[in-house]
Amino acid sequence: AKAAGRGLLRFFDPAMQVAVAERVQLESDMRSGIEAGQFELYYQPKVQQGRIIGAEALVRWNHPERGLVSPLQFVPLAEESGLILPLGEWVMKSACEQLARWSTHPVLGHLSVSVNVSALQFRQPEFAQQVLATLATTGAPTRLLKFELTESMLIGDIEATITKMGQLRGYGVRFSLDDFGTGYSSLSYLKRLPLDEIKIDQSFVRHVLTDPNEAAIARTIIALGASLDLEVIAEGVETEEQRVFLERNGCDMWQGYLLSKPVSLAAFEALVHARTPA
Ligand code: C2E
Ligand code: CA
Ligand code: CA
Ligand code: CA
Repeated sequence: AKAAGRGLLRFFDPAMQVAVAERVQLESDMRSGIEAGQFELYYQPKVQQGRIIGAEALVRWNHPERGLVSPLQFVPLAEESGLILPLGEWVMKSACEQLARWSTHPVLGHLSVSVNVSALQFRQPEFAQQVLATLATTGAPTRLLKFELTESMLIGDIEATITKMGQLRGYGVRFSLDDFGTGYSSLSYLKRLPLDEIKIDQSFVRHVLTDPNEAAIARTIIALGASLDLEVIAEGVETEEQRVFLERNGCDMWQGYLLSKPVSLAAFEALVHARTPA
């Protein structure tokens, strides 16, 4: 009775009603927006030793009234409503189409694309089949596609996770562990997962020059990656000092505002061309 009473109160809370109405609206906008082509992939360059080696694909929503909406505002909602499934499929297909378009280009042909995958999407039993079908229909080079997974989505049925990753890796697809260190990290499962890369979360990069604890964590993650034979990339690199710190400590791959924020396809391609010696 107490719970029902609280529910009733919540129901009549006007602020709450606005929030619910807003969510319902956003959800239905999202559904139609996917079909209307309002979503767009932005690309943030990944750099190794001064060279752009690829990009992380980050979804943006060109909302007709709200303008460019950040994924922080709609990805969690899309996850709750299940809309992340059609959206995630669209993201993966777009990234693969882009890889295929670049593949014959002398300058852009070597670029890899990292795609964020949400837990719900990855847990679909048909995920691996779907990826393989998309790779086949688009003709994207499988070795240039990388998926970013987060720690929290990998716990649970670890055997199924390993099988799924192994199946895709058999075709050359690669895997990165995103936001490393922010979730539940058990070293024993880290050793078992067929990963290619770990990504140092930006929260361990931000104060790396001023906070000795953060510096120690960053160094530890880099050493861990090396000992497990994984590539290590840092995200959220904003200053030259941060980049130098990381490089001195053995991490020469990074992305961040220091080079570029995520940008449109045209802007990304222009950036790659500008940085390629003639
Ligand atoms: P994430 O995967 O951790 O992506 C990194 C976020 O950090 C991006 O935010 C990026 O714009 C931002 N960032 C990059 N460099 C810097 C920097 O130097 N400084 C700072 N302060 N921030 C930096 P964004 O694009 O807003 O994406 C937010 C999150 O939304 C992503 O976090 C990811 O979890 C999710 N997301 C984005 N695109 C997709 C997608 O296609 N599918 C799924 N499932 N999630 C996505
Ligand atoms: Ca990511
Ligand atoms: Ca990340
Ligand atoms: Ca992050």
